[in-house]
Amino acid sequence: MRSFTVISGLVLLVLSAACTSNVDDITSPAVPGLMEKGNGFDSTTDECRANMTYIASQAVIFFACNGRYPDDLEEMGMAGVVCPACMEEYDIIGIDDYFYIECPLPFSPDHGNIDDGVASWLE
Ligand SMILES: [Zn+2]
Repeated sequence: MRSFTVISGLVLLVLSAACTSNVDDITSPAVPGLMEKGNGFDSTTDECRANMTYIASQAVIFFACNGRYPDDLEEMGMAGVVCPACMEEYDIIGIDDYFYIECPLPFSPDHGNIDDGVASWLE
């Protein structure tokens, strides 16, 4: 159950609906207000992290529906979701019951990662 650490609350809210609804319904923009608390970073950092949190929640939903994590964004129907700073798609590793997503920003400090459901910026 380690994958259900940080984002389980969010996922539980949408899980039952997502498994039965059209994929298009759950690929809308990042969850509004998710990363609103101030943390000293600029808005693209907040937006990027909200994107990654949203992608991670969708990945957990994908896992619940398919018994494994997705190989890439496209498999979740989320192709084209990019970091707002570098405009590149997120790096994703999905292996059976392990999932990792990282901001592709090519310079430091990047926007962090979500390692098996745990966001690096929350540690
Ligand atoms: Zn980013």
